[in-house]
Amino acid sequence: MAYDPNNVFAKILRGEVPAHKVFEDDATLAFMDIMPQTRGHTLVIPKAEAENIFDLSPEMLTATILTTRKVAAAVRAAFEPEGMMIGQLNGAMAGQTVFHLHFHIIPRYEPGGFRFHGKPAEDPDLLADHAAAIRAHLDS
Ligand code: AMP
Repeated sequence: MAYDPNNVFAKILRGEVPAHKVFEDDATLAFMDIMPQTRGHTLVIPKAEAENIFDLSPEMLTATILTTRKVAAAVRAAFEPEGMMIGQLNGAMAGQTVFHLHFHIIPRYEPGGFRFHGKPAEDPDLLADHAAAIRAHLDS
């Protein structure tokens, strides 16, 4: 399937859709998931037209996973979860719903009951607070 430049993450990159941003550099952007699975659920995307992990150059993939680790460390410092899931879905059959490559950073506070989808949209004010808490650990 060809990359669709009108997917919602492409629109976030172009500034056409708002996002609670936590980190940005030349190659990557991190922002809060609007339907978080857990408190602090954050997404990291490359600034490249890649639908999935197979479409991205090694250099951009390296930048994306390094940003993922950096932001995950800040999420861990901000929320002190018991564990941390980092995941990435390729294709609708795997559960992918937004067709711009992204890594999920999902803090885990308790065992069991995990699904990638199905939560309602979170209060934007709470997401803004969470983004600020994570940014505080990236700035320090
Ligand atoms: P996936 O199923 O791996 O493609 O994950 C897509 C993720 O994007 C889901 O966790 C959604 O909650 C999240 N999502 C969808 N639209 C937005 C948006 N506008 N801003 C932030 N996260 C979003």
